[in-house]
Amino acid sequence: MSDVVTRFAPSPTGHLHLGGARTALFNWLLARHYGGRFCLRIEDTDTLRSKQEYTTSILASMRWLGLDWDGDVLYQSDRTELYSSYVDQLLASGHAYYCSCTPEEVEAMRAKARAEGRKPRYDGHCRDRHLGPGKGHCVRLRLPDTGRIVFDDMVKGPIATDVQELDDMVIRRADGMPTYNMAVVVDDHTMGLTHIIRGDDHVPNTPKQIVLYQALGLPIPRFGHVPMILGKDKQKLSKRHGAKAVIEYEKDGLLPEALVNYLARLGWSHGDQEIFTLDELIKDFDGSNLNPSAACFDDVKFSWLNAHYLRALPLDQLGQRVAPFVASEGLLVPTGERMDALCVMFRERAQDLKGLAHCFRPLLVEASALDYVEKDAKKHFTPAGAQHLRALSQCFAALTPFTKEAIDEQLNSYVAQNGLKFKEVAPPVRTALMGFMGGSHLHEIMAFLGKEETLARFAKAIAACDQER
Ligand code: GLU
Ligand code: ZN
Repeated sequence: MSDVVTRFAPSPTGHLHLGGARTALFNWLLARHYGGRFCLRIEDTDTLRSKQEYTTSILASMRWLGLDWDGDVLYQSDRTELYSSYVDQLLASGHAYYCSCTPEEVEAMRAKARAEGRKPRYDGHCRDRHLGPGKGHCVRLRLPDTGRIVFDDMVKGPIATDVQELDDMVIRRADGMPTYNMAVVVDDHTMGLTHIIRGDDHVPNTPKQIVLYQALGLPIPRFGHVPMILGKDKQKLSKRHGAKAVIEYEKDGLLPEALVNYLARLGWSHGDQEIFTLDELIKDFDGSNLNPSAACFDDVKFSWLNAHYLRALPLDQLGQRVAPFVASEGLLVPTGERMDALCVMFRERAQDLKGLAHCFRPLLVEASALDYVEKDAKKHFTPAGAQHLRALSQCFAALTPFTKEAIDEQLNSYVAQNGLKFKEVAPPVRTALMGFMGGSHLHEIMAFLGKEETLARFAKAIAACDQER
């Protein structure tokens, strides 16, 4: 099936959100699975609500997620004439006709139908009036009088609609602009689409699009309508209710690999498997096992998955990715071995890049700028604590080389020789080095800081101990 062609067709009326990202991902995966093409089309015909900045942002989010597209991005706003030529074709073949009814007249027809207990629809008034183009004339599709439109949805199974449910829809407005469904059908056909996965808010459009394919004598692609993504509490995700744009995840330091993996599992499954490499997703995503019931986005599970990917990243990559977050903490970005050392110390302790960069902070400021968490300082900067810090200060001043191993050995022998327990000595040392009771292994922290900076922190803490008294 190397002729599989899919697409993502966002409207640039907002940033890319989770639902859109998942739709894009499913189409992308299907195309990559079959070695086909994945196209991108910007549905920017709503000139009031469409904004270039949103197109830019959607494309940036697609790139961040790694969803590369084939060929150029298509813009519907460039294609009005093409759509119109298809409308003309329908007029010529007798599948469409001009209608001069005013919006008020159409509304009256609908009101009448409602009053008579029928479905509100255009009543076909102009069908056989043989009108030509003229001011205020739109073009309508002539629907067959009877019949059913049936399609086998990739997600929901067979869906049937009686043509009586539809009406002779407008395909070109009086101002010459094609309508939404007309444009979509022309695009999906000319782009060669074979499969269309989209949100199930589009289910009502599909029979309308199918009658257009039929009237134009075109092959009908396969459709799959995925249910929307809900919050953990099964409520619709909304701006007020946890719906975040993809760029916000990026800004918050989450990893695109984790988001891709997580989104793939929202509405699709492959046995019980939760963690997939991109290659596995491509191999396993063949358009089957799409789930018709709504999936819930669980922040906790997503954080867990993100932490997993953070740990799995090769060190050099982790360093590169965390660097911008370190910079936005206002810190000097370390390089090479120093960056590697920080990543090794803290990657098990963070869930995302922003959190990781934040963990680095105490080790990247100077002793003079290190702040103490008050409750930890109060608890551990005691006379006994000061005594340990003084004694250790002397030991470490004399320690060469100041390596991880030597430091570790020194700490252990200090504890052993004085008949102490490690947990008596470690807390004041940890607070002196980190400013609080967190961080990594003491010997790793000290080796990273180096002798001079370690001693400066000890001195500062000893002074603070004296003040606590
Ligand atoms: N532009 C539409 C949307 O953003 C998608 C249209 C389609 O997939 O057919 O909802
Ligand atoms: Zn009419």
